[in-house]
Amino acid sequence: MSLELFDWLARGFTQASYWQMAAYFLVVTQLTMMSTTLYLHRSAAHRGVDFHPVVAHWFRFWSWLTTAMVTKEWTAVHRKHHAKCETAEDPHSPRFQGIHRVLWRGVELYQSARLDKDMLEKYGKGSPDDFIERAVYSRVPFMGPTLMLFINVALFGIPGVAIWALQMAWMPFWAAGVINGLGHWWGYRNFDTADTATNLTPWGVWIGGEELHNNHHAFPSSAKFSLRKYEFDIGWAVISGLRALGLAKVLRVAPELDVRPNIPVPDADTMRAVMAHRWQVATDYFQIVLKPHLQAEAADLPRRLRRAFRSEGKWLDEAHRARFSAWIAERPNTARLMEFRARLLAIYDIKSAAAEAKMEALRIWCAEAEASGVRQLEEFSARLKGYSMVPARA
Ligand SMILES: [Zn+2]
Ligand SMILES: [Zn+2]
Repeated sequence: MSLELFDWLARGFTQASYWQMAAYFLVVTQLTMMSTTLYLHRSAAHRGVDFHPVVAHWFRFWSWLTTAMVTKEWTAVHRKHHAKCETAEDPHSPRFQGIHRVLWRGVELYQSARLDKDMLEKYGKGSPDDFIERAVYSRVPFMGPTLMLFINVALFGIPGVAIWALQMAWMPFWAAGVINGLGHWWGYRNFDTADTATNLTPWGVWIGGEELHNNHHAFPSSAKFSLRKYEFDIGWAVISGLRALGLAKVLRVAPELDVRPNIPVPDADTMRAVMAHRWQVATDYFQIVLKPHLQAEAADLPRRLRRAFRSEGKWLDEAHRARFSAWIAERPNTARLMEFRARLLAIYDIKSAAAEAKMEALRIWCAEAEASGVRQLEEFSARLKGYSMVPARA
């Protein structure tokens, strides 16, 4: 074997050191993460941000090259996840599939979900359907990673194969496993959403901001995932940079909440903000009404059951749920507070075209809360009436 060939096999054309290979690996995986979170997730699936056609196309190309993912399939599977969250139809719910299955084999769940043609038509609307999509990206998706393998081998020789293998394992593990699995299982919650979505950490630079999954489920179409001062969304930092260059247009960000003092009856501002901040309403209800009540009345109740009040015991197993319901049934004061909660959240389901019906229901609810004789309910109602929107500054 000639010396040149041996050199090439050992280190490729670049003759890179292992440190340089590691740097390359971090850069390419980070670019893949950005293509997924910024393009597939925030732009294609949720329409929170639009990119300049050149940038959008670059993301599509990079997704194809490094993951073989097809925009329409990814978009559809993901939209279905939001639409059917935590039900048997959710493509990757740890509640139904088991956390180990989603965490370690999440990519298989994705691969089987994407085969459903009706689902693709129903949830995949608005996905790119241009010439290159039809001729290349969706026609020969696996050519992308194959080409990537050749590129890596050319650049780094035999070690390029190892880099490629790690690259191919990176997204399935972090995105399909950690975000879809642990992001509905473990972490902290800013909002008592109707699902189990959690924020994994306040920052996690290598998963693109997707670690803030509870915030995302509370405001799915927001291009920005960080909502607290201590949270950092690297994806949003990249969007801001692209926007400064004129390459991105932010379409939606989560609204901010302002609470006005001394509002006697809910007005149009209240209604708008109550509608936009649905999960903040649920969270405030727990903090202001239920938590102090439980501290006084439920000291004997295990923590798990106390926490279940945030979600009406929905995620408890059968035995615990029976115990939870029986406990409430024996305590009329607690039952009453849970009923108030259910009636408040039911306002969101009023299917009337006239906003007036919702407004009326909210007014009645507040009046009854104030006449209840329960100090915490009065306090909560006073806050709720003051809800208003801070004009969005994206
Ligand atoms: Zn989710
Ligand atoms: Zn989403």
